[in-house]
Amino acid sequence: MSEQTLTINGVSIDHRPGETILEAARRLDIDIPTLCHDDRIEPVAACRICLVEVEGSRLMQPSCHSKTQPDMVITTESQRVSRNRQFSLSLHMADTVSDRTIAEDANPNRLFELADIHGTAGLWPHVDSPRQGRPMDVNRFIHFREDRCIGCALCTRYCDEIEGVTAITLAHRGALTTISTADELSLTDTTCELCGGCIAVCPTGAMTEKAALAYGKPEKELEKIRTTCNFCGVGCQLDLNVDRDANRIVKVTPPPPGTTVNDGNLCVKGRFANDFIHHKDRLTEPLVRDADGVLRPTSWDEALDRVVEGLQGVVTRHGPHSLGFVSSSRCTGEENYLFQKMSRAAFGTHNVHQCAAT
Ligand code: SF4
Ligand code: SF4
Repeated sequence: MSEQTLTINGVSIDHRPGETILEAARRLDIDIPTLCHDDRIEPVAACRICLVEVEGSRLMQPSCHSKTQPDMVITTESQRVSRNRQFSLSLHMADTVSDRTIAEDANPNRLFELADIHGTAGLWPHVDSPRQGRPMDVNRFIHFREDRCIGCALCTRYCDEIEGVTAITLAHRGALTTISTADELSLTDTTCELCGGCIAVCPTGAMTEKAALAYGKPEKELEKIRTTCNFCGVGCQLDLNVDRDANRIVKVTPPPPGTTVNDGNLCVKGRFANDFIHHKDRLTEPLVRDADGVLRPTSWDEALDRVVEGLQGVVTRHGPHSLGFVSSSRCTGEENYLFQKMSRAAFGTHNVHQCAAT
């Protein structure tokens, strides 16, 4: 532990060089609200919600961006701090959709969640923002709603720093500042990889998923079911957002950053390639072929019996090494283990392979 210390809300804590006030406060379980901050992304102090008092400093300091110094005396809860939070929340709310039902029509809205906790300085008259949207963007997946944007730049910074493709950018100045692409191209004509990370980090639902928006049920009314993505062998965790009334998966969202192996990220397949689940052509029960060659639905017991019968027939006629088993990287480690065990122990052959090994 460093011998140098600082004080937050009267509590002394060791000084760690390079640490921000926000990080130091978290070590003391002190919650400082933020709108534009994400631990994975360089801070820019855009939203001004996280301002705190620092003794000796005339202006309050953005805690996400200000580094701690030895002997600093910081106050995160005071009338002045509270007034700034409420004032900033009111400003942001006047600049976006102020009707909560509409503001939370699809994605959760952190602005309203923070207003519930910290209050506001009043609901001020709505100011129609002149910022432009991208009505010409015909990509199938992501919709930018300019009337909900608070200019926090989390989406562009995510795209730059985490996805590393810089497909979207802040465009124009002042009240006209908006999120755009080069030449206002559709996302699919840019370097965008359709990871959906810009949707995940957006605090107000300005970046949203087109299909889920069209479905028309807010995310807060959907049940999240944690599962493992089966598109590849990485094992990313994802949350299926299920409409229990309709027994339907509406969309996929990543678990919060820092909680699972994929750290709040998904790829295009994990996030958007889920409409096969409810496709009318999807097989939902096993089929076996009758003597006349026609497929008919059956039970899993009968289907598996037929598989065993067929494989054992090959072993009887041609020996165990006439069989080969090929597994998939989409299976879990446990499934792959059982698969090789079945090959070796049940059928007596080492002819077993897995596609990721090639
Ligand atoms: S989907 Fe991913 S790559 Fe495309 S703009 Fe959003 S963050 Fe960038
Ligand atoms: S679209 Fe969302 S994440 Fe991007 S700047 Fe606007 S509010 Fe922030």
